[in-house]
Amino acid sequence: MRIGILALQGAFIEHKYAFDKLGVDSFEIRQKRDIEEHFDALVIPGGESTVIGKLLHKLELFEPIKKMIENGMPVFGTCAGLIVLAKNVIGEEPHLALMDITVKRNAYGKQIDSFSQDVIIPEVSKEPFPLVFIRAPWIEGVGDNARVLCELDGHIVAARQDNILVTSFHPELTENLSFHKYFIDMIS
Ligand code: GLN
Repeated sequence: MRIGILALQGAFIEHKYAFDKLGVDSFEIRQKRDIEEHFDALVIPGGESTVIGKLLHKLELFEPIKKMIENGMPVFGTCAGLIVLAKNVIGEEPHLALMDITVKRNAYGKQIDSFSQDVIIPEVSKEPFPLVFIRAPWIEGVGDNARVLCELDGHIVAARQDNILVTSFHPELTENLSFHKYFIDMIS
C-alpha cells in the first residue's frame, strides 16, 4: 500500500510521520509528474484552503485529483483538506466540491483560539481521541450521502462519505494513530 500526501502547503510532513510509524509507505505529491506514480490513497492536509486550492489549479493537479477521488480513490482531508473537499463552503466558492457537506471556515476563530479536547469517536476507537483545532472549520450540515462521525458541542467535526474521510481537527498533530489506522482500514 502506498499513500500520496498532497504537499503543496501546510502540515503534510506530520501525516508522513504518522504513516511511517504505522509502517505504511507514503510519498509527497508536489507536482503533476508525482501523480503518475502508483498510489492507493491520498491525504489533503491542513494549511490554508485558499492557497491549496489555487496551487491545485496552477500545478494542473485539480482535474486529475478530482477524477481520481470521483473514481473511488480513498482520501483523507484534515482541516483545510476538509474545506478543499466540501461541496459547499459558506460565503465562498468551493474547491474540489466532492463531499456532500456544508462547511464554515474559521468557525472556531483565530490562531489564538486553538484548543484540544478528548472525545470518544466510537467508529474510530474505544479510547478518547485528542481533537486538536487550529483556526478550524466546522461542518454545518451533511447531505444524504455523507455520515457524521463526530460532533463536538453540537457541531460536526468529522464525517465520511464512501471513500472520503474528513476531520476539522488535526489527527496528524497528535501521537494517537487511531484516525490514520481507520483510514488505512478504509483503503484495504
Ligand atoms: N483556516 C484554514 C482555512 O480556512 C484551515 C486551518 C487549518 O488547516 N489548520 O483554510
